Formats: sequence, structure tokens, C-alpha cells
Amino acid sequence: MKIFNTLTMTKQEFVPIEPGKVRMYVCGPTVYNLIHIGNARPMIVFDTFRRYLEHKGYEVNYVSNFTDVDDKIIRAAAAEGVTAEEIAARYIAECKKDMAAMNVKPATTHPQATKEIDGMVAMISGLIESGHAYVRNGTVYFATRSFAEYGELSHKNLDDLRSGFRELKVSGEEEKEDPLDFVLWKPKKEGEPFWNSPWSEGRPGWHIECSVMAKRYLGDTIDIHAGGEDLIFPHHENEIAQSTCANGVPFAHYWMHNAFLNIDNRKMSKSLGNFFTVRDISKKYDLQVLRLFMLSAHYRSPLNFSAELMEAAKTSLERIRTAADHLRDVAENGADGPLDDAARKILEEARAFVPAFDGKMDDDCNTADALAVVFDLVRFANINVTDSAPKKLARGLLDVLTGLGDILGLIVLPKKETLDEDIEKQIEARQEARKARNFALADEIRDRLKAQGIELLDTREGVKWRRI
Ligand code: AMP
Ligand code: ZN
Repeated sequence: MKIFNTLTMTKQEFVPIEPGKVRMYVCGPTVYNLIHIGNARPMIVFDTFRRYLEHKGYEVNYVSNFTDVDDKIIRAAAAEGVTAEEIAARYIAECKKDMAAMNVKPATTHPQATKEIDGMVAMISGLIESGHAYVRNGTVYFATRSFAEYGELSHKNLDDLRSGFRELKVSGEEEKEDPLDFVLWKPKKEGEPFWNSPWSEGRPGWHIECSVMAKRYLGDTIDIHAGGEDLIFPHHENEIAQSTCANGVPFAHYWMHNAFLNIDNRKMSKSLGNFFTVRDISKKYDLQVLRLFMLSAHYRSPLNFSAELMEAAKTSLERIRTAADHLRDVAENGADGPLDDAARKILEEARAFVPAFDGKMDDDCNTADALAVVFDLVRFANINVTDSAPKKLARGLLDVLTGLGDILGLIVLPKKETLDEDIEKQIEARQEARKARNFALADEIRDRLKAQGIELLDTREGVKWRRI
């Protein structure tokens, strides 16, 4: 399996530190608001990659943090007159709801920055002792020049960076020894949440949080570190500097970065007003549609969000689900008995879609091409499994299709919904009316159900319904 590694800018064969195990860290959201669909992109693509690693038999220790102390959280709290803790707790809970609705598996651990302060104080102390950090008036800075490899991930040259920064001195940071130095710990301002430390009552910088949480839950060296491409510089570059200097060993072997999600071909931003939360989308679509939409592009390609593409994703999901539904029907009502040679051959061919799918995913998690294999399988199933096909054949193909769906986190067979009692009664009444050849009444009931958002379909296997 190959992964495109931002560190080397090449696709590299994946070799884990420990055979059969993967240690993976994904930078999580800052929780001051409902997550937007841009935040959903890394969640969905790296959850899919994790599922694929598990399908290949790896045991994955998947860690994704919540940044729960930050200027934006403090501002949101002040605006509402509540504590930062309350804001963070609320939006962590909301984020978890959105993740569940997108079928993103919970991480092995979801650490929160504010619960890891001791580890941060310890790492910062170590960096000061070893000369990689220094204190100025209660603020601790990382001495970037003390780490010779700085800039390796973002492929930036230190001198260029330094001259670029010279013009941009941030007010209040004049005491820095070098414009590239960044904050590890900063003193509180009036009314802000704070923790005790040897340097000041204050709070950690954003970058140190991830270095400490990765170390605590995954170890000094990890296999894969992932996040959106905007994090490459400075966030991930700073994480590497801190962790490597603190631990004395390389930090992460593979760095994966997803490209951005745009809306109507423009960068998604709050100020432009072209901004959707996952919750907004859930009002119009099953979030499985959003998931399929995200997977329809390679994770390193920019992806444009538009109404047309979402409609296309909806149609694609329906195509998969219709095929799965049909396979389930045949698995329940098809022909009994063992498979003949022809049926066995069809099943064998269907199973060959799995290695084809794996081949696409092995190529730097190419979900777009892997999805194309799923649609090939759907076409194959539609052609080869008729209503009267053997139950065992339909069951075999359904297992292949649901298996591939699971890897992508797509639920191809949603649980059969239980209808409200009232609706069930109406369907029964319509059946009675039809039996009594009272078609006017039967049609009336059908129309009434339609008005309630339930469409009835008369099929050979009986009456079916779906929500419209
Ligand atoms: P944040 O809450 O801004 O720290 O972002 C959480 C994660 O979402 C990070 O991995 C970001 O890179 C990612 N992210 C934010 N906006 C977008 C976007 N428009 N497209 C793709 N990823 C994004
Ligand atoms: Zn991070």
C-alpha cells in the first residue's frame, strides 16, 4: 500500500513501526461552533482510510483531538456570557452527533487539550532545559533556530521565512528572539481561563497540544499524522519541531493532508456567506450523501461543493441502495438449493471486485476509483442476479457489496424503518379496499399517504413503501 507523504512529496510504500499495528493522529476541530462541511472532509477521508487499514487487518490506534481552549472559544463564551468550558462541552457533543450521523467512527481516543495540561507543562519544561525554548515575561517561546530541520515538511527555506516574517511582527511578541519563534505557553489575560505553570498563570499554545496528545496516546514516534493542508505550515511544522526536540526521535513517518473543500468554486468562508455547517446539510440530505460526495474525489484534490454535485451523489447512493435492496429481496425470496456451476462462477467474479477495490485504495487511498469499482459491482449484480436467482447467490453478492460499503463507511442497507402505527393501518386499509375492488378508496388512501411523505410501490413481492 502506498501513501503520498507530504514530507517527501512522493508516494511511499507504507511500512508500520510495529507489524500489524498503526498509530495514527488526526488534528481535530476547534470547538466554538457547529462543524462545517470543510471540517467534515478530513473526518470522512481519514475515517475511510482507517476503515481500509482495518479491512487490511491492521489494528489501528486512531487519535483525534478536540482543541477546547482557544481565542475563538473564549470570544464565543464572552458573547454568550457563559464559560469557555461550557462552549467547548456543547460543541464537542454536537460534533460527536454530526460524526455519528456521517458514520465517522469514534476515535480510539478523543483527547481534549484542557485535560492534558500537565503533559504540556512537562514537555515545555523539558524544551526549556534542553535549550530549545526560552521564557520572556511569563511567555514561553520555542527557539525555532535550535531545530535545524525546521521547514522540511512545508519545504520552506528558513531564510525566506524569516525575511517574510520581519515585516509582520505581531504586536505583543516583540520580545521574541527570532520572528520564527512561536508560543508554547502564554499568560492569561483578564477573565480568560488559566492553569498554573512555572512561568505564569496561563494556557498552552495550540501546537504544543497536539505534540503532547500524540506522545501520550501513541508514543514518541507515530506512523501517520494527518489533517487539512492548511495545517502543514505552521501547525505541523511546529509540531515536528517540538516533538523531535522533546523526544529525540523522529515524530511521524507519514504525513497525509487533504485538500480544501470549496463552495461554488470559491473558497468557503464565513465572511463570504458561502458557508454550510454539517447540520445545515443534514436538514436537506441523509449525511450518507455528503459522505459519498466527499469520497467521490481523491482526498488530495480540491473538491467543489455544489447543489448539482450533491444531487449527483444522492442519485449514486440510491443506485447502490436499490441494488442492495434487490439483492436482499432475492436472498429472501429467490430460488432455494445449492448453486450450479454458472451461479458459482458469477459469485467468484463478484468476489474479484474486492481485490480490484483494494488495488485502488492501495494507491494512496483513491476513494474516487474505489467507488467506481463499487458501481461496477452494482452493474454486475443488476445484470446477473434476477428475481428468480438462487438465494445463496444473492446473499453472496450482497455480502460483497455491503463489505465494500462498510470500508467506505457507506450504509448500503439502511435498517428497515418501522412505520408509525397509523400509516401501517392505512396501508392495510388500502389493501382491503383493493381486495374489495373499491379502487377509488384505495387511490384515496394512496394519495393521503403520499401527502404524508410515504410513497407506495406495488411490486411482485407485495406492497413496498419509501419516504419521499
Ligand atoms: P479547525 O477547526 O479550523 O482547526 O479545522 C479542523 C480540521 O478541518 C483541520 O484539519 C482543517 O485543516 C480542516 N479544514 C478546515 N476547513 C477546511 C476546508 N474548507 N476543506 C477541507 N478541510 C478543512
Ligand atoms: Zn494538530
